[in-house]
Amino acid sequence: MTVEVDRIAADFAAKNWSSDPFGRFLAAYESDVTVAWHLVSVGLERYTEGGTLFDLGLGLLPFVEFEETVSVALETLTTGKHHNFAERRGAPDKETDWLNAIISMSTTSQSLKALLCLFETRRPRALETAVSRVQHVVPPHPTLSYLHQVGFSNPNEQLYSEDIMHCIFPAGYLSEDGPVWVRRVHPSWTTFSTVAVAPFGGEASGTCGLCRGALARLLRLPPVVGPEGVETTIAVCMSCLGWELSPLFYHHETADDVTPLHSRSEPITPKFPGAPLAECVVQLSVTPSRWAWQDWALSNSRENLHRVRGHPTWIQSAEYPSCPICKATMKFLLQLDSELPQTDGEDWLWGSGGILYVFWCSRCRVSGIFWQCT
Ligand SMILES: [Zn+2]
Ligand SMILES: [Zn+2]
Repeated sequence: MTVEVDRIAADFAAKNWSSDPFGRFLAAYESDVTVAWHLVSVGLERYTEGGTLFDLGLGLLPFVEFEETVSVALETLTTGKHHNFAERRGAPDKETDWLNAIISMSTTSQSLKALLCLFETRRPRALETAVSRVQHVVPPHPTLSYLHQVGFSNPNEQLYSEDIMHCIFPAGYLSEDGPVWVRRVHPSWTTFSTVAVAPFGGEASGTCGLCRGALARLLRLPPVVGPEGVETTIAVCMSCLGWELSPLFYHHETADDVTPLHSRSEPITPKFPGAPLAECVVQLSVTPSRWAWQDWALSNSRENLHRVRGHPTWIQSAEYPSCPICKATMKFLLQLDSELPQTDGEDWLWGSGGILYVFWCSRCRVSGIFWQCT
C-alpha cells in the first residue's frame, strides 16, 4: 500500500487532479486503513504548506499514529497553518512558554499566534492569562470574540459540552450521488455505540410566528439525550430561518410544544419556502475522542458533521446568541449539515450549503437557531 500511495502522490504531482487522487486513495483506504499514515508521511515531505490531499490523510489518521506524526512534523508544523490546534492536547506547562512568547516575541504576528495558542488550550487558568494579555498583543478583534472562538463566554464558563454524539442515518436516507471523493468512508459515519434513537425530520406541531406555516421537526431528542434530561423536540420554520430572520428563537414548554418567540400581526410570504426534512429515525452514537474535534473546511464534505453537543464546527466566526428572555449566553446543543433529503424529494441546503446550529438556554428552555454558509 505504501507503493500505491507513492504512486498516487507522484501522479498527482505530474497530472494534478486529473489523476483522481481522492478516488484512488479512498479505494486504497477501504481495503487498508493504514494508508492514512502513508499519505500523511508523504504529505509531510511534499506538502509543507498543507493541502487538501494532505488534509485527507490527516482526517483519517487514528490517534495511535499521532505521536509519530508529531515527532516528524514538529518543525513543519511550527510554520504550518494547523499549529494552533495542537495546543488543545498540549501539556499545561506549555502555557508558560506561550505566555513568555507573547511578552518577548518581537512581531505582532508572532505574539498573536502565541496568544491564540493560549486560548486554544481551553484551560481556565490559561484563558484568564490570555484575556489579561490581550492588550499586550493588540489583536484585531474584541477579547470576547477570541473566547467565543474557543467556546467560552468567560474563562470559567464553557459554552459546549464534551458528551458528543454523531447522528447516524439509516442506509439509503442520504443521497449517494456526488463525486467519488465524498463517499462516506470516514469513521465519523460509523456507529460506535448507540445511546438512543431519535425521530428525525417531518412536521412539528407548532406554527411559525412570521409566516404562519407549519414548523418542521429537526430532531426529537429522547430524555437520555435531551437538555436537562427532558424529551425535547427541536423544530424550526425552514422557510423563514436565515432568509426572513436570524436567529429564530423558540420556547419549549413540553416535549412537543414548540412556541416561536417572534410574531408578526400580518403574516409574511417567505421568499424561499422550504419543505420539511424527510422523516427517518437516526441513531445517536457516542463519538470516539479521535473524531471529537472536526473542522468544517478540513472535513471538505467527507466527514459526518451531523452532531449533538461537542464543539460547533464553525464555517464563519463563532456566534453564541443571547437568550431573548434572560439575556444569558446560550450553550451549543447540536448542528446539522446540508444535503438532507426533504419531503418534496429535493435535497436541502442551509443557505448555499452550510451548517445549521442550535443553541439552548436551560433556565428558560429556549432554543436559538441559525445557519452559516460560505
Ligand atoms: Zn416561517
Ligand atoms: Zn434564558
